[in-house]
Amino acid sequence: MSTTTLAHYVAGEWITPKDEEWGIDVNPSDATQVLAQIPRGSAGVIDHAVQAAQSAFRGWKAKTGTEKAEILHRAANLLAERRQELGTLVALEVGKPVGEAVAEVDRGVMIFRYFAAEAVHPIGQVIPAQKSGSLQFSLRQPIGPIAVISPWNFPVAIPLWKIAPALAYGNTIVWKPAEVASFTASKLAEVLAEAGLPAGVLNLVLGKGSAIGNQLISHEGIRAVTFTGSDTVGMGISEIAARRNIKFQLEMGGKNAAIVLDDADMDQAAKLIAAGAMRFAGQKCTATSRAVVLSSAADRFVDILNKEIQALPLAPANDPKSAVGPLVTKDAMEKVALYADLGTKAGRVVLGGKRPDDNIYKNGFFFEPTVIVDVKPDDRIAQEEIFGPVLVVHQAKSVEEAIAIANSSRYGLSVSLFTRDINAALQYIHEIDCGMVRVNGDTTGVDPHAPFGGMKFSSSHSREQGPAAIEFFTETKTVQINA
Ligand code: NAP
Repeated sequence: MSTTTLAHYVAGEWITPKDEEWGIDVNPSDATQVLAQIPRGSAGVIDHAVQAAQSAFRGWKAKTGTEKAEILHRAANLLAERRQELGTLVALEVGKPVGEAVAEVDRGVMIFRYFAAEAVHPIGQVIPAQKSGSLQFSLRQPIGPIAVISPWNFPVAIPLWKIAPALAYGNTIVWKPAEVASFTASKLAEVLAEAGLPAGVLNLVLGKGSAIGNQLISHEGIRAVTFTGSDTVGMGISEIAARRNIKFQLEMGGKNAAIVLDDADMDQAAKLIAAGAMRFAGQKCTATSRAVVLSSAADRFVDILNKEIQALPLAPANDPKSAVGPLVTKDAMEKVALYADLGTKAGRVVLGGKRPDDNIYKNGFFFEPTVIVDVKPDDRIAQEEIFGPVLVVHQAKSVEEAIAIANSSRYGLSVSLFTRDINAALQYIHEIDCGMVRVNGDTTGVDPHAPFGGMKFSSSHSREQGPAAIEFFTETKTVQINA
C-alpha cells in the first residue's frame, strides 16, 4: 500500500503549509506499514481555519432547514456508498476489527439522517405572555464557530455526532481530530465537501492536540468547544473554556462495571461481559472493565467468562474474523502491559497477562485479553482507566455491596446489571451513579438517537446525540412582541 500525504482542509481548500512538521500514521496491526504522512498544524493554520469558520457563519446560519437537510442527506448517501472503503480504512488506521468498523460507518449514516431530519424539525416554544395581546416565544439560534476535538477510538461516529448537529442547527466548525485518526477524518471532510457543504463551514486542522489544542480553544473566534477524550485533557479544556465563558461539552473516560447477581442467566452475562470487555481490545469509553459478581456465583461465572473470551478471535483488524484486534499505539500496548503486571500483585491473573507469541502478532501492538480476579475495589487497577483488554473481577456479598463497589469510582459513564429479580433491578436503577444504565445488556453501544453521556468525571453533564444535542449546539433567545 502506498503512503498518502494528508492535508488540512480550510476554507474549501486542501492545504499543506511549507513550514510544518510531519507525523506518520501507521497500521497498529502491522506497524511496519506506513499509511500516511500527517501535517502538524501550527498557530497560523488554526487562525486561518477559525477565520474561515467566522466568515462562513452568517451564510450558513441563513440557509433554510431544507437546504441544510439536503446536504446532510447527501452526506449520508455518500457515506453509505463508501461504507466498505471507510470501514477498511478505520480498521487499518486505528485497528478496529473491520466488522465493527463498517458498522461504525453505518452508524455515521444514521447520525447524518437523524440530524438531516432535525434541521427541519420545529424548535423553540410559544410562552404565554403576561401582557394581553402580546406574543412571546423562545428561539433557538446557532452559537457560531465551534471547535470539535475528537478521539481516535470512534473516528467516524464520535466526530459525526458532534459535526452533524452543529451543522443542522446552523453552526460552523473547526475540527481537530486525534492525530492517529487523521486519515479517516480527511475522508469524512471529503464526503461533506462532496455533499455540497459550502467552503469554510467545516474546516479540518490536523496535528498534535498537545501543541495546537489550547490555541484553538483560546482563539477569540471560537464560541464553543465540544470534546471527547481523556479526563486529563478534558479538565484542561474546561479551564480555558470557563475563563473565556464559552460553552463547553466534555465526554471523557469510564471504568464501567457489570454486576452479576446469582440468579442471572450466567451464559448471557458471561457472553455480553466478554464482548463488552474485550472487543476492539477494550478501547471503548463504555467498555466493561470491572465485573462485580455475587460470591455465591463467582467461580461458575469466571469459568464461563474465560471460555467466552477465548472464543473471541485475536487477529489483525482487517481480518474479517477479528474481534479483539491490536492496541492503537505502542505506548497504549506498553501501558496495558504495565497494568497487567500490577495485576499480578493486586490479584490473580486467570487469563492472558502477556503479549501473544504467534508470528502474526509480532509487528503489531497486540496484547492478550486479560482477566484478573480477587482484586480489591480500591486498587489502582480497579480505579484507573486502562483502555485495554483487561477485566478485573470483584466479589460482593449482597446487592447493596455490589452497587457500592460499582459506584466506588471517579467515573460514572455506563453500567450493567444481570439479574431476573425486578426488585434488585429497580434498587440498582435508583442507586447507581452512571449516565447510561443497562439491565441484562452489556455496557457498550448506545442507540444513535438516545442521549449519551455520564456522571462524575465521565462527562460535563450535558448529553450528546438525539434530542439532547440541541441543548448544546444552540443558544436560546426569549422574544416578546407587543402591539
Ligand atoms: P485524548 O488523548 O484525551 O485525546 C482526545 C483529543 O484531544 C485528541 O484529538 C487529542 O489530540 C486532543 N488533545 C490532546 N491534548 C490536547 C490539549 N492539550 N488540548 C486540546 N486537545 C488536546 O484521548 P484519546 O486517547 O484520543 O481517547 C481515549 C480517551 O477518550 C479515553 O479516556 C476514553 O474513555 C475517552 N472516550 C470517551 C468517550 C465518551 O463519549 N465518554 C468516547 C470515546 C473515548 P492528539 O490525538 O493529537 O493528542
